[in-house]
Amino acid sequence: MALALSSTLAPRLLPLRLPKVCLALSADTVEDMLATAESMATDDPFLEFRLDYLKQPLAALPKIHRFLETHQYVTAIATCRRVDNGGKFKGSLASQLEVLAKAHAAGCPIVDLELQSALKSKPEAIARLRSRAALILSFHDFRATRNLDETLEKMLKIPADFYKVVSTATTLFDNVAMMKFLQTQSDQHALIGLCMGEQGIISRVLGARAGSVFTFGAVDANAGLKTAPGQISTRDLRGIYRIDQVDPATRIYGVAGDPIQHSLSPVIMNAALHRENVNGVYLPLHAKTLKDLIRCAREIPLHGLSITMPYKQAIIPYLDNTDAHTAKVGACNTVVRGQDSKLYGFNTDIAGILRPLEQRLSIENAKVLVIGAGGAARAAVFGLRERGAEVWILNRTSVKGQKLARQAKARTLKRADLRKIAFDVIINATPVGMGNSRDCPLKDEEIQARVVFDMVYDPVETHLLQVARAKGIAVIPGIEMFVQQAARQFEIWTGKPAPAAEMLGAVTIALQDRAALKQPKT
Ligand code: NAP
Repeated sequence: MALALSSTLAPRLLPLRLPKVCLALSADTVEDMLATAESMATDDPFLEFRLDYLKQPLAALPKIHRFLETHQYVTAIATCRRVDNGGKFKGSLASQLEVLAKAHAAGCPIVDLELQSALKSKPEAIARLRSRAALILSFHDFRATRNLDETLEKMLKIPADFYKVVSTATTLFDNVAMMKFLQTQSDQHALIGLCMGEQGIISRVLGARAGSVFTFGAVDANAGLKTAPGQISTRDLRGIYRIDQVDPATRIYGVAGDPIQHSLSPVIMNAALHRENVNGVYLPLHAKTLKDLIRCAREIPLHGLSITMPYKQAIIPYLDNTDAHTAKVGACNTVVRGQDSKLYGFNTDIAGILRPLEQRLSIENAKVLVIGAGGAARAAVFGLRERGAEVWILNRTSVKGQKLARQAKARTLKRADLRKIAFDVIINATPVGMGNSRDCPLKDEEIQARVVFDMVYDPVETHLLQVARAKGIAVIPGIEMFVQQAARQFEIWTGKPAPAAEMLGAVTIALQDRAALKQPKT
């Protein structure tokens, strides 16, 4: 990509060879800011000092100077965004320019100034600043993604070294608008472009491929240490999404649902793609409507999608074709975009249920109790019946259980009759036991079988599994289903065997991390 750097600055800027990710640093005190910089600079040598977060930015500069002198490999951006423009700096325009000029003198080769401040300043003042430092002229739209080309046109009237256009994604399709903008304009101008917000993740991970010189990452997005909505930590950008490897050939996958924030699918799928050296990246896609998702899938283009709540049934009319399992169960959890651009639907929940079971017993003629009659129960009942198991359904709403039993040639069971049958397997396909609850779909004395399978996977060890284990019954935790349904998706998308052990390891660590976060702090 050709950068339109000014001739005077080019010799100073070109050796910088900016990394793809800049770590945005914010803290109340310069000591905290520098402590974070110190601990992260080896992995993240490109830093943005958000001076506007500090009470006295000018007073902090000598310390920043000392840090930069002793960390020569660090490239720093100084930003002192005004309150009116979404920052925290309350001083005058003149003092904002003074902070930036002095920050440059303190060792920050790049400074960021908002378009609004630049428009209010004398052109000579901007030119003076730019004669010393490389200037990022920035514009943030905190409401929407709109008029990107017009905004750039306005910005180009002010000479700068980089033009940073940041919008807010309210739909997934907004990412398409941002990436088209980057693709068409980045040949002529050095652009930094991304969408804020949870739905902007596509632009954060794929923006550099579309032409953004770099993107921004947070210190720790979960601990509130981010400077913009939707910012991802630099650790996740590099570790999970492997942003440094994303190139034009990278295939894009994702999990779509509403909500999606807590999905563990990105952790498990990116671990698998990495392990098997597949040039692909898998993103969490918060789809507020299916229409938005489908438009985005066609334009990005997304190669494969995992579909989760609440779209497993609703997606079916949007698909060009589905496999037999999807049609039977009436739910689709996997979409492939074929070379013909058509969307094909699959159901891998069935594989997720059958694979762990057949590792423990022969499914043919096994007597299985399925508790529940929702989507997951339907996958279990149809899958088991197809493999010759005898299936009984116990559901809170009995008519729903009866309907499923009729469709799948299974039977229903009254709770009172539970102990009349010696089951080989009991499967919990209800959410009972989820979270930290000690709830259990059965009473202790009703838990009698050779194998107990709980589809609930958070917590890993539910009360149902604890009781079964204590009775010496073999148990299948829901995490195994989660891994196996994902493994089947991986196989459909890549044609390679899935690294199931690696995937199980990744999701186990993620669940442990999540449980640790929930622990009350002492
Ligand atoms: P769903 O379609 O909403 O069905 C839920 C089922 O559970 C319904 O039959 C419902 O009974 C029953 N139910 C809900 N609350 C209940 C309660 N308090 N007491 C008794 N029965 C109750 O949900 P789903 O998609 O089938 O998912 C069910 C569970 O499986 C969830 O916990 C989900 O996380 C888990 N799951 C796990 C995986 C995995 O990979 N491990 C994959 C898919 C699903 P009514 O008919 O009476 O409403």
